[in-house]
Amino acid sequence: MTRDAAHSADVLVIGGGLAGCWAAIAVAEAGGRAIIAEKGWCGTSGVAATAGPGHWFISPEGRLREDAVKRRLQMAQGLGDAAWMNRILERTWTTLPRIGTHYRHVPDDSGRIRHHALRGPEYLRALREKAIAAGVCILDHSPALELLADARGAVTGARGVRRQGPESEWRVHAGAVVLASGGCAFRSSLLGAANNTGDGLLMAVEAGAVLSGMEFSAYFTVAPAGTTMARTMIFAFARYRDARGRELPTPGPGDNRALARALAEGPVLCDLSRVPDDIRAQLPQISPNVAVTFRRLGIDPFTTPFPVALIGEGTIRGTGGVRVADAGAGTSVPGLYVAGDVASREPVTGAVSGGGAVNAAWALASGCIAGEAALAHARSRGPGTTHDGLGRVGLTPGTDDDAVADAVRTRMLAPLSQYDRNAAGLRQDAAALDDAWRALSTAPPRQPDARARQRAREVAAMTATARWVTASAAARNETRGMHRRTDTSASLPPFHVIAEGLATPRTRLQAASS
Ligand SMILES: Cc1cc2nc3c(=O)[nH]c(=O)nc-3n(C[C@H](O)[C@H](O)[C@H](O)COP(=O)(O)OP(=O)(O)OC[C@H]3O[C@@H](n4cnc5c(N)ncnc54)[C@H](O)[C@@H]3O)c2cc1C
Repeated sequence: MTRDAAHSADVLVIGGGLAGCWAAIAVAEAGGRAIIAEKGWCGTSGVAATAGPGHWFISPEGRLREDAVKRRLQMAQGLGDAAWMNRILERTWTTLPRIGTHYRHVPDDSGRIRHHALRGPEYLRALREKAIAAGVCILDHSPALELLADARGAVTGARGVRRQGPESEWRVHAGAVVLASGGCAFRSSLLGAANNTGDGLLMAVEAGAVLSGMEFSAYFTVAPAGTTMARTMIFAFARYRDARGRELPTPGPGDNRALARALAEGPVLCDLSRVPDDIRAQLPQISPNVAVTFRRLGIDPFTTPFPVALIGEGTIRGTGGVRVADAGAGTSVPGLYVAGDVASREPVTGAVSGGGAVNAAWALASGCIAGEAALAHARSRGPGTTHDGLGRVGLTPGTDDDAVADAVRTRMLAPLSQYDRNAAGLRQDAAALDDAWRALSTAPPRQPDARARQRAREVAAMTATARWVTASAAARNETRGMHRRTDTSASLPPFHVIAEGLATPRTRLQAASS
């Protein structure tokens, strides 16, 4: 029986969700050899697989795109980039309908095909099939643990563990790597996000890349209490009452602060009786998970109020991630490209969430763009030689890993303190997270137990991500978008907060126009 498996490819894609699948398909369709290494099972893994993703999908006719970009630039609060917005609009428009080779579009009541709105489970399954048909090799149940680099620091592949089958480790030597490992939800119970522990952010910083916009991560979604059902669409019609029966103000888009405050006082009940009949009728098709959840609870949600909770999304429907350094979704590290939620989406969403349309379009388009640029890099570079592991922390299980994860979750999944940030609270968070960081194992890798090694690396990634979020939130001494500071009323010219550094997180400010 083999213990290790070695592979080679032009481009290794880490993560087989929305962005990773599109990236690998783009590589294969351009004639390159692509491998996807996926922590779970490509086709059901990733946050889009449980959702009903709508895409930012706008025709080039007339002024439609110009107007859409203008609106998004306003929403981005000074941090958006019109060139990136136009790039993803064009790519999404030309590419998304091509999923039709493997996805069954169903016409709406007027007989139209709505290309922009897809059923998540079938979309992801279609992407897997399309990738395989294009010649992509998929390593399922194969979390990447660390990147590999040549003697000059260019990224040349990755190494990870196999959670199924005879091999315990895998290693891919590649001309370039696309990180598509999603955002970080700090192991909240967000549906579909169990694997989203910030691994790609850690790997990128270990390689020398920088992050941006990590402070834009205070995003919490409503779900029926005790469930993972963070589907937001029906909650747009919700009314809420606090523990004393008082109706709460209607939450604004993505802003559940009032709910967070009421939940700190006691249970909050949700009333969905205002959901229109046509949406009730369509719900089982659009979001099959919703009906299942309420059936299990034994509740008719449209007639019976039910208690709700808030679930943290971190950088998923937040915005921050690895800073994109060029128009090919490259980073500041040669051979390393980023796509989807692992990348900072500031260029297309700025300080507000891109959930609902822009994030999915970004995942698709940045995936294709990164895949093609990575292939061009691989072809220009030729075969690499030296391959050093870049991982620095969490490569072997530590005795305190569970306690470390709990400490991180306590800080990052507390809606009130994340929604309403101030310098003193952020200092306390930073001190607690520094303690957590010191408790992580830095021992060299041991061979056994793939699952424990995966878990150890996830805890390290979550801890590192929490420290970059906290340092970035402290550095942005103003309120902008989803980042709110209660201890200052400053309103500053637009700037980005760049975060880097592993042992000690560092931040610097960069004017938005530069
Ligand atoms: C409930 C919900 C609804 C949403 N609806 C919309 C919408 O309607 N419109 C919209 O624009 N956006 C929406 N979004 C956001 C959108 O789904 C995401 O932006 C998009 O799915 C991101 O794709 P991704 O591939 O970057 O990340 P993911 O889909 O999270 O995929 C990342 C993949 O990487 C894998 N992975 C992680 N770590 C590793 C590792 N170390 N090694 C190997 N693999 C790894 C994971 O298992 C996962 O499969 C929604 C999000 C949620 C949570």
